[in-house]
Amino acid sequence: MVLLDGKKTANDIKDEITVSVNEMIARGEKVPHLAAVLVGSDGASLTYVGSKVRACERVGFNSTLVELPETTTEEDLLKTIQGLNKNNDIDGFIVQLPLPKHIDEQKVLNAVNPNKDVDGFHPENFGRMALEMESFIPATPYGILQLLERYQVETKGKHTVVIGRSHIVGRPMSILMSQKGPAGNSTVTLTHSYTKNLSEITKQADIIIVALGIPEFLKAGMVKDGVVIVDVGISRVPDNTKPRGYAIKGDVAFDEVSKKSSFITPVPGGVGPMTIAMLLKNTLIARKRNT
Ligand code: NAD
Repeated sequence: MVLLDGKKTANDIKDEITVSVNEMIARGEKVPHLAAVLVGSDGASLTYVGSKVRACERVGFNSTLVELPETTTEEDLLKTIQGLNKNNDIDGFIVQLPLPKHIDEQKVLNAVNPNKDVDGFHPENFGRMALEMESFIPATPYGILQLLERYQVETKGKHTVVIGRSHIVGRPMSILMSQKGPAGNSTVTLTHSYTKNLSEITKQADIIIVALGIPEFLKAGMVKDGVVIVDVGISRVPDNTKPRGYAIKGDVAFDEVSKKSSFITPVPGGVGPMTIAMLLKNTLIARKRNT
């Protein structure tokens, strides 16, 4: 079994980005600038945004955190987004999800300038991605592709089963794995909460990408020997032995499934760090476009 080490791979990617930033500085160019909009003070969102800002510092990007209160109206948030769209100093920005219930998430994502949409959530980027045109690929799927590619996991002609059809992970992943090119050319089955006999499907999979948010959902009895496992799930599970009072669990029962796997991502230290690295990569691309 080979561990798909997202922490190490993400550090490699960050080092590559740092080299590009240093080259930009040497040429007297402006360094990339990422902004993040955070509405409210949800604990997990604060942690994610904090990691993104620290990652910017690590590679030499400028970063701006726009913190808005939980009570922000949809209109005010849209105004903030228009401001970021117009601000030439900002190359790319993200709106941290989830948003408070009184705000229409899709309306907000639609308001982001597609050229600054480094999360790749705007319909224009999603459509371009599906058509294999140049676009911003959502950071988590992009990170998974990079992990598979850098570990030379064969995907061509393999049967990939994706569990979960969210717009940010499962659905784009199902499209990308079937595309032509590296980490693609796979035969894909997209499964979700209405899928019947899921185990029968997962047992036929060469590669399983799990993104549903149920801790340790995928068990050894659901997979065949030699399977490649990508575990996207991040759940906080109460654990009094931990100083924070909770442990982070993935969607895969790692101890049992890893014994049958040829490659597997750990949680934490797998897909999570890759997501942040690819957000930086998208911001670098946005900077190059914004010249
Ligand atoms: P989501 O919560 O929006 O949707 C869950 C999906 O799982 C749905 O499509 C649903 O149909 C499917 N599902 C639910 N129960 C199922 C079942 N019994 N069988 C088959 N499918 C089922 O999904 P999301 O936003 O993609 O998040 C999934 C998990 O990934 C969460 O734990 C989230 O925290 C994590 N996540 C991690 C990263 C990262 O960077 N590592 C990024 C995004 C999400």
